[in-house]
Amino acid sequence: MDRIKTGDGGIILTTAEELINWARLSSLWPMGFGLACCAIEMMGAYASHFDLERFGVFPRPSPRHSDVMIVAGTVTFKMADRVRRLYEQMPEPRYVISMGSCSNCGGPYWEHGYHVVKGVDRIIPVDVYVPGCPPRPEALIGGFLKLQEKIRKDRPLAPKLLLEVENQAV
Ligand code: SF4
Repeated sequence: MDRIKTGDGGIILTTAEELINWARLSSLWPMGFGLACCAIEMMGAYASHFDLERFGVFPRPSPRHSDVMIVAGTVTFKMADRVRRLYEQMPEPRYVISMGSCSNCGGPYWEHGYHVVKGVDRIIPVDVYVPGCPPRPEALIGGFLKLQEKIRKDRPLAPKLLLEVENQAV
């Protein structure tokens, strides 16, 4: 494709699914909440030095405005109900990034942390896991790029039954 701007008109051919996926992956709006120290790195990623907004990632103050939940920090049993309730308040399609070892598998509390859920995927489905204790902002940005790759392959217009049959065949 010619990259020089000539002023001539052009035509882009695509499918409705690709267009929907492109719109979704270009405007991911995470809910603004954090659970523990990983949330500090998450806030760093939103700040000007790393500038997540250049990827269309823009934190929102309410679960009803958000389509991404970043679980940043230790998920205690006390908080597990709240995390699940917030997830259920998010509209579809919704995605979850598990940020850091605590959220991925219990982290430093995996053996003796009687109060810690050993992985947030025990209470809500996770799309991308970001490893580290804590992961740096670059790692979270990498997590968003992975999520964008995943959304690019989505088939939002395919009948659910067809997708179930395909998944069973894999
Ligand atoms: S993974 Fe490490 S940095 Fe993140 S919340 Fe757990 S202890 Fe804190």
